[in-house]
Amino acid sequence: MNVISLKQFDDLGLAEPILRAIRAEGYTTPTPIQEGIIPIMSQGGDVVGIAQTGTGKTAAFVLPLLQRLSEQKSKPQATACRFLVLAPTRELAAQIDKQVRIYGRFLNLKTAIIVGGVKPGPQIRALKPGVDIVIATPGRLEDHLSTGAVRLDRVETVVLDEADQMLDLGFMPAIRRLMAKLPPSRQTVLLSATMPKQIRRLADDFLTDPGEISVAPAAKPIDRIDQHMMLVARADKRAALLEVVGVSNVDRAIVFTRTKRGADRVCQHLKKAGHKAAAIHGNRSQGQRDRALADFKKGRITMLVATDIAARGIDIDDVSHVINYELPNVPEAYVHRIGRTARAGKSGVAISFCDPSERKQLRDIERLIGRALMSDEDRKVLETAVVPEAPPRKKRVRAQVKPWPGNGDGSRKPKRAKPKSGARKTAAKRKSQKQRNAPSRRDRVSA
Ligand code: AMP
Repeated sequence: MNVISLKQFDDLGLAEPILRAIRAEGYTTPTPIQEGIIPIMSQGGDVVGIAQTGTGKTAAFVLPLLQRLSEQKSKPQATACRFLVLAPTRELAAQIDKQVRIYGRFLNLKTAIIVGGVKPGPQIRALKPGVDIVIATPGRLEDHLSTGAVRLDRVETVVLDEADQMLDLGFMPAIRRLMAKLPPSRQTVLLSATMPKQIRRLADDFLTDPGEISVAPAAKPIDRIDQHMMLVARADKRAALLEVVGVSNVDRAIVFTRTKRGADRVCQHLKKAGHKAAAIHGNRSQGQRDRALADFKKGRITMLVATDIAARGIDIDDVSHVINYELPNVPEAYVHRIGRTARAGKSGVAISFCDPSERKQLRDIERLIGRALMSDEDRKVLETAVVPEAPPRKKRVRAQVKPWPGNGDGSRKPKRAKPKSGARKTAAKRKSQKQRNAPSRRDRVSA
């Protein structure tokens, strides 16, 4: 990571087992967000941190929590925890858990990861004896709270990670409910890449006199990313994708689509063209997502096609390219997407396809990051292009069910005419042939 700092980790008052783990990772210098947050958190203060992923923000809050555990290791009470970290997605929660294990490997600590999409039983068992750190997504944590599997009245510090994403995903009411269950004397840390009004209000409502640390102006993508915005008609995007991945030096790319179906289609298209690709999105099981991520990390696949939500928390250092097959509706998502490349001090390339129907999205992104992304020549074409109207959505027509008038003999069950001999066989044959030709249910769902 490119860090200009005079401080070393040794100067931050961290315990030896934590410093040993940091050294084992090869880090000597704290990043600016770490340099800002660690001292405030260590003194028990509340913090608002404005930082994107890739800045070292996870270690910034994990290290002071571990420090407190190393200073005072009390036995947690049954179903209680000392520290609570809330994250928007399972992937980010897993990522945080991983970092806790890395930096806390020489401390004897108990953590529990509480996320949706997996069976609750093992989580309940993990929570039962009490743990040091709970890393959770809000929905599943509320479930466990309602059944008494976890209690939050012993929480000393709560961290809200990627608060703006939790807002986008509709978690704000759940977060407010959870915050109300915490002891009022707790320490609160809020991290967010951007500071929309609702997040500012959340900070005002739940934090006391927080120190504010902001690294890199909010929502400005990291300078090391080489950003390209290409004008591509919607119908040409598939061909453009193959061209881009064919000519560019794409070692490992994440391709973003707006929809889950879109992700599947693009993935199929890449596979057909001979690329090793996998799709991750909300309709895939946790097992499928984990497998795709592991394959991507190990290099068994070189292209991961993802939707925004599924991509949160992906922390893979060598992503050479981010390709925005479609521009996101929320401009902040652009910053998050391209932040998947150029991590840990490396450079990266972001290539985005913009078709005339995405003019507004482009304008919003450019306004947010404060610079033009498209060449003047392309922009002229974009501004004057006629946006083809989207085909009207087919209306679902409910089948009219007519009441059966009866058989004239008092019975109401429809009577079928007996097929002539041989006719039954032919009908069955016709039916099985029809079934063979019809798409399976799975095909219909994923089409
Ligand atoms: P994050 O912003 O927490 O997602 O971290 C991004 C990446 O930076 C992770 O791969 C970390 O392992 C790495 N990292 C964290 N702290 C440092 C540091 N002080 N020096 C170099 N890399 C770091």
